[in-house]
Order: sequence, then C-alpha cells, then structure tokens
Amino acid sequence: MHLEEVPEPGVDEIPGGRGVKVQVLRVGVDGTDKEINAAEYGDAPPGDDYLITGHESFGRVVEVGPNVPSSLAPGTYVVALVRRPGSSIYDQIRLQDFTTDDVYYERGINLRHGYLTEFYVDDHEFIVPLPDSLREVGVLLEPTTVAEKGVNQAYEIQRRLKVWRPERACVTGAGTIGLLVTLALRLRGLEVVCYSRRKGPYRNSDLVEELGATYVSSEEATLEEAAERHGPFDIVFEATGFSPLVFEAAGALGKNGVLVLSSVTGGSRTIEIDADRINQGFVLGNKVMVGTVNANREYFELGVRDMAQAEAEYPGWLGRLLTHPVRGLESFRQLFETLTTAKGAIKVFCQVADH
Ligand code: BGC
Ligand code: ZN
Repeated sequence: MHLEEVPEPGVDEIPGGRGVKVQVLRVGVDGTDKEINAAEYGDAPPGDDYLITGHESFGRVVEVGPNVPSSLAPGTYVVALVRRPGSSIYDQIRLQDFTTDDVYYERGINLRHGYLTEFYVDDHEFIVPLPDSLREVGVLLEPTTVAEKGVNQAYEIQRRLKVWRPERACVTGAGTIGLLVTLALRLRGLEVVCYSRRKGPYRNSDLVEELGATYVSSEEATLEEAAERHGPFDIVFEATGFSPLVFEAAGALGKNGVLVLSSVTGGSRTIEIDADRINQGFVLGNKVMVGTVNANREYFELGVRDMAQAEAEYPGWLGRLLTHPVRGLESFRQLFETLTTAKGAIKVFCQVADH
C-alpha cells in the first residue's frame, strides 16, 4: 500500500450527463482488502500499475450531470455498487453479480479503481441514495448487501416448496457478514443460532444475543450438536471464511433446507469428508446448496430498507459494529495494521472526511 496522487475526477467523464461526483466520507475494509494487500487477489485497471482499493464506500454527492435523477441531488448520502457489468446476458439485464464472464470488474477489487480516495465519479445507475438517518452507519451498506443477496437467494430457491415457512436458521461465523446475516434473518422473524469459534461472552456474542438470537461456540458444541439442540435448520448461512465448515454445515442442514455459501476462500485447503452420509442426506432430504457473491442494485435498495428497520427495532445495534475508525487517507498503514492485527475488531474503516 502507498499513497498515490491522482487527478480529481469530473462528472463529464461519464457520457450522457449521467455522471455523479461523490466526496468520500468513509470506507470500510475487510478480508478481501487483506488479500489484495497481500497480492493474492485482484488486479489493477489495464494501463495502470496501481489499484485504488476500497469497495465499502459511503459518501456525499457534490456534483451531478444534467440527466441525473433528483434522488441523487448534491448533498445526498450515497453508497456505490462494487461490480460493473461485463458482457453476459446477466450483465446486460443488470444482474452483473450473476455474470458468467471469466473476467469480472469490481471497483476497488479487480480491474477498476475503488473508493479509498477523496472523490470518485460514476454513472448514476451504480449509485444508491441513503436517508440522512443512516449517515452514521451507511458504510455498512455494502457488506449488508452480501447478506441481503444470500438470504434473498434462499427465499427465491425455496419457492419450489410452495408453502415454505422457515422457522429456524443457523449462521456460521460471527464476523461482520455473520452478524449482518443474523440481523437480516431476525428481521424476517426467524429463530437464529449464530455459531462461531470463540467462547462467549464477548462483543460479537453480545451483539447476537441483543438481536434475540442464540450464540453457540464451537468449543461448546459441534455444528451437528447445535442442530440437534436448536434445529432442524431451514437455512444454514456459511460466513466463516473456513471452507471445511461447509461440509459440516451440509451435514447439519434440515430436510428441505437450503445452505448458502458466502465465504471467498482463496487458499487450496483439502479435507476428507463424510461423502456418503452428506450426499444421502441431500438426496433423501431434498436439500439445496447455493453459492452467492456480490450484489446487484436490488439488494442495495433492500439493504437500505433493512438497515432502516434495524435502526427502528434494534436502535444503535448497527453502530456498534463500527468498532475501529482510522482517520485520514494518510493513515493507510494504520488502517491495514488495524485490519490485520486488532483483536476483537468488527468493522475497521477509514474516516476519509468528516460528515
Ligand atoms: C465484496 C464483494 C465482491 C467479493 C468478491 C467481497 O469482499 O464485498 O462485493 O463481489 O468480495 O470479489
Ligand atoms: Zn467485501
């Protein structure tokens, strides 16, 4: 990581008067940024020898082209989508999160500059407005969309069951995504068990319990035991970043259940699994396993609604995820130091400018 002087972008860079110029206020960082910083993932845009990182944005509109809708008027708080459309049929109908292209474009991750900068410009179709009431927590929208899309996939798939009424869910992992999935499922009225490594009580297990969900540590029970005690699970949402748990989760899923996988695991880990038993459980139990990545505009809009509902039902809860602010772009070293070493951090973010 280093600081780079770059030209300030202008709204005219976007054709058709559709440009929106945004002043960046906050940018969150996550495991993907760690991998990019370690040169294990992501690439610079063609022609550049650097990548502006940062994909969890939050900012304020400062200037717009003549054909930008009034919902994005200067002064509006906004978050930008991460992935940009490529060429597959899904991209063409703006479901770029479902692209089948080999190459994908993600701002701040792969082949497109991101938001860890003072200003950015983009087409209004990729910029989502937030109400002022979400100004303190808006930087959590992008990770929230990952939860929203995954949960939404489960519901879409389960329409196959005609009368599906999910009651119990298990979320594996109590990091930012695990917590936001727990929230999304609680807002939909499910009983939720959040299963993670560390023994409670600690900040994350407290946050789980404040939502009326149950925290279970892997030191106290295997996932199968948790399923016996708290299941059967209609949904299992895997968000640990540890791929072997996928197969334990597959074994712990209830009949007709859906297992959602969201961990981007860059390694090359291999394990031995209980293949016959897991396979038979899936066949005789009509179970589904689905992967989910990124999010299109629909899930950003859904995320805004869920965050507003969360503020009403669990006031202050979202704000408690913002554990580690780091001030100023020039503190980028401290930002990454905090991301990789801070004990008990949930969301580390850069306060690029004041609200
Ligand atoms: C981002 C997603 C992205 C994924 C894969 C995640 O960290 O939040 O927007 O699609 O990485 O690159
Ligand atoms: Zn991310």
